[in-house]
Amino acid sequence: MSIKCESCGSKIGGAFGVSLASTEEVQLARAMGYSVKDVVCENCFLPILLKLRECTAKKCKELDLELDTLLLSIEISTFPPTDNAYTYRGLITAHTAIGTGPLIEAFSSITDFWGMESGSYKGKMEEAENSCVKKLLYKAIMMDANRIASTHFSYGELTAGKGMVLVCAQGTAISTCDGPQAIKEKYMDLLKQKQAFNAIWE
Ligand SMILES: [Zn+2]
Repeated sequence: MSIKCESCGSKIGGAFGVSLASTEEVQLARAMGYSVKDVVCENCFLPILLKLRECTAKKCKELDLELDTLLLSIEISTFPPTDNAYTYRGLITAHTAIGTGPLIEAFSSITDFWGMESGSYKGKMEEAENSCVKKLLYKAIMMDANRIASTHFSYGELTAGKGMVLVCAQGTAISTCDGPQAIKEKYMDLLKQKQAFNAIWE
Protein backbone atom coordinates (compact mmCIF):
# COMPACT_ATOMS: atom_id res chain seq x y z
CA MET A 1 0.00 0.00 0.00
CA SER A 2 1.47 3.35 -0.96
CA ILE A 3 1.29 6.45 1.21
CA LYS A 4 0.13 9.70 -0.30
CA CYS A 5 0.69 13.28 0.81
CA GLU A 6 -2.53 14.56 2.37
CA SER A 7 -1.95 18.00 0.83
CA CYS A 8 -1.02 17.37 -2.79
CA GLY A 9 -1.71 13.66 -3.23
CA SER A 10 1.82 12.84 -4.39
CA LYS A 11 3.06 9.33 -3.79
CA ILE A 12 5.54 9.22 -0.93
CA GLY A 13 8.61 6.98 -0.98
CA GLY A 14 9.65 4.43 -3.55
CA ALA A 15 11.73 5.08 -6.64
CA PHE A 16 9.62 7.95 -8.00
CA GLY A 17 7.91 9.17 -4.87
CA VAL A 18 8.75 12.32 -2.95
CA SER A 19 10.20 12.25 0.57
CA LEU A 20 8.16 12.61 3.69
CA ALA A 21 8.74 15.79 5.70
CA SER A 22 11.05 15.25 8.69
CA THR A 23 9.16 14.17 11.81
CA GLU A 24 11.22 16.43 14.09
CA GLU A 25 10.57 19.45 11.91
CA VAL A 26 6.86 18.69 11.73
CA GLN A 27 6.74 18.32 15.51
CA LEU A 28 8.56 21.61 16.01
CA ALA A 29 6.22 23.31 13.54
CA ARG A 30 3.19 22.06 15.46
CA ALA A 31 4.75 23.10 18.76
CA MET A 32 5.11 26.59 17.33
CA GLY A 33 1.49 26.77 16.32
CA TYR A 34 1.53 25.76 12.65
CA SER A 35 -1.13 23.30 11.56
CA VAL A 36 0.49 20.46 9.64
CA LYS A 37 -1.33 17.45 8.21
CA ASP A 38 -0.42 13.98 9.50
CA VAL A 39 1.16 12.81 6.25
CA VAL A 40 2.84 15.62 4.37
CA CYS A 41 5.52 15.54 1.70
CA GLU A 42 8.72 17.58 1.74
CA ASN A 43 7.46 19.88 -1.03
CA CYS A 44 4.24 20.79 0.73
CA PHE A 45 6.07 21.26 4.02
CA LEU A 46 8.76 23.53 2.52
CA PRO A 47 6.87 26.86 2.85
CA ILE A 48 6.18 26.07 6.50
CA LEU A 49 9.80 25.01 7.01
CA LEU A 50 11.05 28.30 5.59
CA LYS A 51 8.74 30.29 7.86
CA LEU A 52 9.78 28.10 10.76
CA ARG A 53 13.46 28.77 10.08
CA GLU A 54 12.87 32.50 9.94
CA CYS A 55 10.94 32.31 13.17
CA THR A 56 13.48 30.12 14.97
CA ALA A 57 16.35 32.36 13.84
CA LYS A 58 14.53 35.27 15.47
CA LYS A 59 13.83 33.22 18.60
CA CYS A 60 17.49 32.16 18.77
CA LYS A 61 18.56 35.80 18.63
CA GLU A 62 16.18 36.60 21.48
CA LEU A 63 17.53 33.65 23.46
CA ASP A 64 21.11 34.80 22.84
CA LEU A 65 20.16 38.17 24.24
CA GLU A 66 18.61 36.56 27.30
CA LEU A 67 21.70 34.38 27.77
CA ASP A 68 23.92 37.47 27.57
CA THR A 69 21.71 39.31 30.05
CA LEU A 70 22.06 36.39 32.46
CA LEU A 71 25.83 36.36 32.02
CA LEU A 72 26.02 40.07 32.71
CA SER A 73 23.90 39.76 35.85
CA ILE A 74 27.00 38.30 37.49
CA GLU A 75 29.06 40.94 39.19
CA ILE A 76 32.69 40.86 38.19
CA SER A 77 35.27 42.95 39.99
CA THR A 78 38.98 43.25 40.55
CA PHE A 79 38.47 43.52 44.32
CA PRO A 80 38.66 40.62 46.72
CA PRO A 81 35.39 39.89 48.56
CA THR A 82 34.87 42.57 51.20
CA ASP A 83 33.26 40.36 53.83
CA ASN A 84 33.13 36.69 54.74
CA ALA A 85 29.52 36.15 53.69
CA TYR A 86 30.28 34.12 50.59
CA THR A 87 30.80 30.55 49.43
CA TYR A 88 34.00 29.84 47.55
CA ARG A 89 33.35 28.05 44.24
CA GLY A 90 36.78 27.92 42.70
CA LEU A 91 39.43 29.55 40.59
CA ILE A 92 38.41 30.32 37.02
CA THR A 93 40.64 31.15 34.08
CA ALA A 94 40.08 32.14 30.46
CA HIS A 95 42.35 32.79 27.51
CA THR A 96 41.88 34.39 24.15
CA ALA A 97 44.53 34.50 21.46
CA ILE A 98 44.47 37.42 19.08
CA GLY A 99 46.55 38.36 16.16
CA THR A 100 48.26 37.55 13.54
CA GLY A 101 49.30 39.73 10.62
CA PRO A 102 47.68 43.12 11.12
CA LEU A 103 48.64 43.05 14.79
CA ILE A 104 52.34 43.44 14.10
CA GLU A 105 51.49 46.69 12.43
CA ALA A 106 49.02 47.56 15.14
CA PHE A 107 51.62 47.09 17.83
CA SER A 108 54.23 49.12 16.03
CA SER A 109 51.76 51.97 15.97
CA ILE A 110 50.28 51.78 19.42
CA THR A 111 50.53 55.51 19.46
CA ASP A 112 50.04 57.48 16.31
CA PHE A 113 51.64 60.75 15.26
CA TRP A 114 49.75 62.75 17.87
CA GLY A 115 50.52 60.30 20.66
CA MET A 116 46.99 58.94 20.68
CA GLU A 117 46.26 55.30 21.27
CA SER A 118 45.89 53.43 18.00
CA GLY A 119 42.27 52.55 17.32
CA SER A 120 42.90 49.16 15.72
CA TYR A 121 45.13 48.01 18.57
CA LYS A 122 42.67 49.15 21.19
CA GLY A 123 39.77 47.49 19.39
CA LYS A 124 41.47 44.11 19.14
CA MET A 125 42.61 44.09 22.74
CA GLU A 126 39.16 45.10 23.95
CA GLU A 127 37.61 42.34 21.89
CA ALA A 128 39.99 39.80 23.42
CA GLU A 129 39.39 41.09 26.94
CA ASN A 130 35.62 41.02 26.46
CA SER A 131 35.83 37.48 25.18
CA CYS A 132 37.82 36.50 28.30
CA VAL A 133 35.27 38.16 30.56
CA LYS A 134 32.45 36.30 28.83
CA LYS A 135 34.27 32.99 29.28
CA LEU A 136 34.84 33.77 32.98
CA LEU A 137 31.18 34.64 33.47
CA TYR A 138 30.10 31.43 31.75
CA LYS A 139 32.45 29.32 33.88
CA ALA A 140 31.24 31.07 37.02
CA ILE A 141 27.64 30.24 36.13
CA MET A 142 28.53 26.60 35.52
CA MET A 143 30.11 26.51 38.98
CA ASP A 144 26.94 27.85 40.54
CA ALA A 145 28.63 31.12 41.42
CA ASN A 146 27.00 34.53 41.17
CA ARG A 147 30.03 36.76 41.58
CA ILE A 148 33.60 36.89 40.39
CA ALA A 149 36.10 38.56 42.68
CA SER A 150 39.81 39.36 42.40
CA THR A 151 39.73 39.40 38.60
CA HIS A 152 43.12 39.89 37.01
CA PHE A 153 44.29 40.18 33.40
CA SER A 154 47.68 39.28 32.02
CA TYR A 155 49.09 39.53 28.52
CA GLY A 156 51.75 37.53 26.77
CA GLU A 157 53.17 37.08 23.32
CA LEU A 158 52.31 33.66 21.98
CA THR A 159 54.65 33.40 19.03
CA ALA A 160 57.86 35.42 19.18
CA GLY A 161 57.68 38.26 16.72
CA LYS A 162 54.67 36.86 14.86
CA GLY A 163 52.20 39.16 16.49
CA MET A 164 50.04 36.59 18.28
CA VAL A 165 49.03 37.91 21.65
CA LEU A 166 47.46 35.87 24.41
CA VAL A 167 45.10 37.58 26.81
CA CYS A 168 44.58 35.65 30.05
CA ALA A 169 42.07 36.40 32.75
CA GLN A 170 41.61 34.80 36.11
CA GLY A 171 39.24 35.32 38.95
CA THR A 172 37.67 33.73 41.97
CA ALA A 173 34.14 32.40 41.55
CA ILE A 174 32.06 32.88 44.67
CA SER A 175 28.39 32.98 45.59
CA THR A 176 26.72 35.46 47.82
CA CYS A 177 23.17 35.69 49.14
CA ASP A 178 22.62 39.16 47.68
CA GLY A 179 23.54 38.15 44.11
CA PRO A 180 21.18 36.62 41.51
CA GLN A 181 20.02 33.12 42.49
CA ALA A 182 19.46 29.87 40.56
CA ILE A 183 21.30 31.40 37.64
CA LYS A 184 22.76 28.09 36.43
CA GLU A 185 19.29 26.52 36.14
CA LYS A 186 17.99 29.51 34.19
CA TYR A 187 21.02 29.46 31.92
CA MET A 188 20.75 25.73 31.20
CA ASP A 189 17.04 26.09 30.52
CA LEU A 190 17.66 28.80 27.92
CA LEU A 191 20.43 26.73 26.35
CA LYS A 192 18.09 23.76 26.05
CA GLN A 193 15.48 25.90 24.32
CA LYS A 194 18.13 27.12 21.92
CA GLN A 195 19.27 23.59 21.13
CA ALA A 196 15.70 22.61 20.29
CA PHE A 197 15.49 25.50 17.82
CA ASN A 198 18.90 24.72 16.39
CA ALA A 199 17.83 21.16 15.59
CA ILE A 200 15.90 22.53 12.64
CA TRP A 201 19.09 23.59 10.87
CA GLU A 202 20.73 20.21 11.08
ZN1 LIG B 1 2.57 17.21 -0.84
